[in-house]
Amino acid sequence: MVIAAHHDDIEIMCPQGIVKGYKSAVCGLVAVVMTDGAGSPRTGEYASFTDEQMKTVRKEEQKEAARIGDYAALHLLNYTSAEVKDFKFQNPTGDLAGLVSYYKPETVFIHNLADKHKTHKASAFRAVKAIRSIPAGLRPKKLYGCEVWRSLDWLPDSEKIIFDVGGHDELLTRLINVFRSQIGGGKRYDLAAQGRRFANATFGEYNSVDRAREVAFAMDLTPLIQNDEIEPREYVLTLVNKFMNEL
Ligand SMILES: [Zn+2]
Repeated sequence: MVIAAHHDDIEIMCPQGIVKGYKSAVCGLVAVVMTDGAGSPRTGEYASFTDEQMKTVRKEEQKEAARIGDYAALHLLNYTSAEVKDFKFQNPTGDLAGLVSYYKPETVFIHNLADKHKTHKASAFRAVKAIRSIPAGLRPKKLYGCEVWRSLDWLPDSEKIIFDVGGHDELLTRLINVFRSQIGGGKRYDLAAQGRRFANATFGEYNSVDRAREVAFAMDLTPLIQNDEIEPREYVLTLVNKFMNEL
């Protein structure tokens, strides 16, 4: 399962989940998008679109990506960004708890807790909270924080989760190009997402040849769903301190 704040985040942050589930007989990717797309930037042919029209465009783009990417299921929760960020409003967390309880995913991918986008962080915190509301024995086995609005090359190598996603260029590029309303508006997510995967593969290690063609990094957040006493904020600061010590 991948839980993302916005339409198109999944195709940037979770190539590892997409390629694992693609045309697989044994597992599938359940995709969850928290927001409604009303706050999406718009230019060019979309410049005059109302929030309502933009919501429809983005929903259709995400559905097309789910079809092309062979996702097992797609859930569009349609909350506003303000609702996702307002922790007094419980519904989004309840929805996530319901979805995780229903699908019982082995692995859950969320935004990493050092992401710079506030709605991403809020989505990630809600996912942690949602999983913690489920009895320990029924929780996912792994929880990983992925890269969108902050790369994770800064994580010390001992803390880095590395996913080899090489050999799926055509599928991954096709998927990100579905989001014409964003890429056409001057954000080259297609080039940037692919570039980050190549850069991770090459700049990850200086003393060996590239072990993979393309790589996605993740922050291991599994301890947060194994021990409810760990404060997410403290957990990230511990990683930041490890980085500082390495420096
Ligand atoms: Zn996003």
